[in-house]
Amino acid sequence: MSKQKVIIIGAGLSGSLLAIYLAKHGIECDVYEARGDMRSETVAAGRSINLALSNRGIAALKEVGLDEYMLAEAVPMFGRMIHATDGATKLLPYSGRTGEYINSVSRGGLNVALMNEAEKYDGVRFHFNRRCTDFDCATGAVRLDTGEILRGDTVIGTDGAGSVIRNAMFQTVERFSYSIKWLEHGYKELNIPPGDFGFRISDFGSEENRDSEGLFRLEKNALHIWARHSFMMIALPNFDGSFTCTLFLAHEGENSFAGLTDERSLLSFFETNFPDAIPLMPTLTEDFFANPTGNLGTVKCFPWNVGGRALLIGDAAHAVVPFYGQGMNCSFEDCRVLNRLIESHGPDWETIFGEFAMMRKPNADAIAEMAEENFYEMRDAVADPIFQRKRALETRLEHDFPAYFSKYSMVTFREDLPYAVARQKGNAQDEFLMRLCAEFEDIDQLSLYDVLQKLREYA
Ligand SMILES: Cc1cc2nc3c(=O)[nH]c(=O)nc-3n(C[C@H](O)[C@H](O)[C@H](O)COP(=O)(O)OP(=O)(O)OC[C@H]3O[C@@H](n4cnc5c(N)ncnc54)[C@H](O)[C@@H]3O)c2cc1C
Repeated sequence: MSKQKVIIIGAGLSGSLLAIYLAKHGIECDVYEARGDMRSETVAAGRSINLALSNRGIAALKEVGLDEYMLAEAVPMFGRMIHATDGATKLLPYSGRTGEYINSVSRGGLNVALMNEAEKYDGVRFHFNRRCTDFDCATGAVRLDTGEILRGDTVIGTDGAGSVIRNAMFQTVERFSYSIKWLEHGYKELNIPPGDFGFRISDFGSEENRDSEGLFRLEKNALHIWARHSFMMIALPNFDGSFTCTLFLAHEGENSFAGLTDERSLLSFFETNFPDAIPLMPTLTEDFFANPTGNLGTVKCFPWNVGGRALLIGDAAHAVVPFYGQGMNCSFEDCRVLNRLIESHGPDWETIFGEFAMMRKPNADAIAEMAEENFYEMRDAVADPIFQRKRALETRLEHDFPAYFSKYSMVTFREDLPYAVARQKGNAQDEFLMRLCAEFEDIDQLSLYDVLQKLREYA
């Protein structure tokens, strides 16, 4: 491959991973990042403290040799722990097959590991505190806030949901379509610190997980959900024994952020809706009023490239709401696909970018739609007995017939299956199983074999 130089805008998760993939091809990369270097300065790592990493993301990390390193510091989550208002808990496993679970990882830790790995290659250079302010779609020149004008063989925009590269395309590329659909709900991160008192024994309790159990104030190996129909709170475990909680609540109206204006209204809201969480959150009031309320939205745009001059990947091309835990996983899958196309075509950026966009767009749209749908599943359905029966039935199907995959498993545990296929097949399965579980209260009466045969005819 002739010596190529690529300019990457954004050293977040996608940009840092992409730099490693490109460097492996001997391509020089200059990565420009608006924030400071999180390895030497106190810089917020981004929009959530921890993230659920699953098979699609792990597949990419494996290709660049970072999977074992990241998984060593991850906390496995084997299922959803549902918290009822009266404090009762129920575990809904993510899969009926053993060895299938999602992983809670630190966003900052992952970003740092990716940057450190990328910097091991001679041709990779990170430039911090350099914000891209404009991109010239006609010439491929990038303008920075320092006044510098940059040129390379091509530019890849990994500058996230508010992408400047995308905005430049929107302004100058003919028939460029762009939409952002805001959710009426926002989010706020809260904290459950590690505990030094007794806590529940892990239901999953594998021996290697037992040593640090004493620190976790809730079941360690689960994603906790307090589903309350029009809003919800979730909590993901951190390696240090704490949990990061995220409260998803409407911005305005009844039960909204707008109504939680002081300590009294906040505590009364928590006492009514999340009473079991209050004793676990000693800094609830401080955290709530100190931490920002974030917006959530779905970004769609097309085309994703300007000939061979520029390409958008990750959130810059397709930001999704976080309810399937797939935004980063999908962005990492982007990098895998792009890498394969570079292997096939060499530095023919126009061909690569065109093929990439055609391959990825239907899948990005599919995960965007599933992520929105999963919001309703998480806040409403997980507390619905029919849904709980359906999940129990699917878990048994997966256990007894490992070739069966629920929609959740197809999305989360199958890096070989496009999101669009998972959505189409998964929706058909869901429709059949929800009808069946509405009809049968006692799913033990059902023959799993018969259910599977009918599913095969139906989906
Ligand atoms: C609350 C929440 C929870 C989430 N949980 C999950 C989860 O569990 N699992 C999952 O897979 N995904 C999750 N996501 C989605 C995930 O965060 C994103 O999909 C992922 O961060 C996308 O990576 P990215 O590199 O494309 O964009 P970003 O992570 O947004 O990185 C963009 C980078 O570009 C930089 N930048 C921006 N503008 C400029 C500019 N003009 N010039 C230079 N640099 C710039 C930014 O500073 C940043 O470093 C979650 C998202 C949210 C909001």
